[in-house]
Amino acid sequence: MRVLLLGGTAEGRALAKALHPQFDIVSSLAGRVPDPALPVGPVRIGGFGGIDGLRRWLQDERIEAVVDATHPFAATMTAHAVQVCAALHIPHLVLVRPPWDPAAATVVASDLDAAKEVAQQRYSRIFLTTGRSGVSVFADSDAWFLIRAVTAPEDQVMPRHHQLLLSRGPYAYDDELRLLEAHRIDALVTKNSGGEMTRGKVDAATALHVPVIMVARPPLPQGARTVDTVAAAARWVTEIR
Ligand code: NAP
Repeated sequence: MRVLLLGGTAEGRALAKALHPQFDIVSSLAGRVPDPALPVGPVRIGGFGGIDGLRRWLQDERIEAVVDATHPFAATMTAHAVQVCAALHIPHLVLVRPPWDPAAATVVASDLDAAKEVAQQRYSRIFLTTGRSGVSVFADSDAWFLIRAVTAPEDQVMPRHHQLLLSRGPYAYDDELRLLEAHRIDALVTKNSGGEMTRGKVDAATALHVPVIMVARPPLPQGARTVDTVAAAARWVTEIR
């Protein structure tokens, strides 16, 4: 059976490993970062060209099942896959990484704009870890930002006062503690990404009594079938064969 794995995450790579070579898989990456961590097995890189492009690609490649293991904030890709798979009657599953407990947050923000409102009203030295694409939301703030991203933000207006820290996880708890202290951070802004690879910053902030402003996940499309472990996703593929 030919299976498309929408990846770009540790879970996507783990699922490829669980299914390859028994299944005819192809993993898809958005191509956002240079030198990405590659899953085992065949890989394609780059957008499909919206809903129409995805429909054509799935048909041309004779894909028989799709597992969406993208990041929980990759809402556009997830919505496109749900819509196209329903139209083509292709079995479809979303592998949803369990979120962090919202109780770890001082404030849960509904989106980046809401996070910015809270941050700029109350804090002055902010550790911003929400990824390069939303940085300009914070551009008109007077606070100082430590902005951590995998690659430098492009086409973004940066906050007046900031330092850019280019790095890629995973991040260890002890290193996050040191970073928060060294920069005298008084608030952490993070997405509720879930997972262990970037959790250290939340635990470190909690230990240091640094407030955590956590952006809630975008909702999943209605009716999407979901599992929350790689093992369950691999089982689903095995069972629909
Ligand atoms: P997005 O906003 O949902 O997607 C925007 C567009 O990027 C999609 O419409 C699609 O282009 C393309 N795309 C996204 N994921 C793709 C994939 N796996 N394969 C092929 N094309 C893909 O997603 P995003 O926030 O840009 O995230 C892009 C990638 O980075 C994903 O693989 C995601 O797992 C990873 N990531 C995202 C975040 C985050 O916070 N959003 C964090 C870490 C990693 P077309 O419309 O042209 O098909």
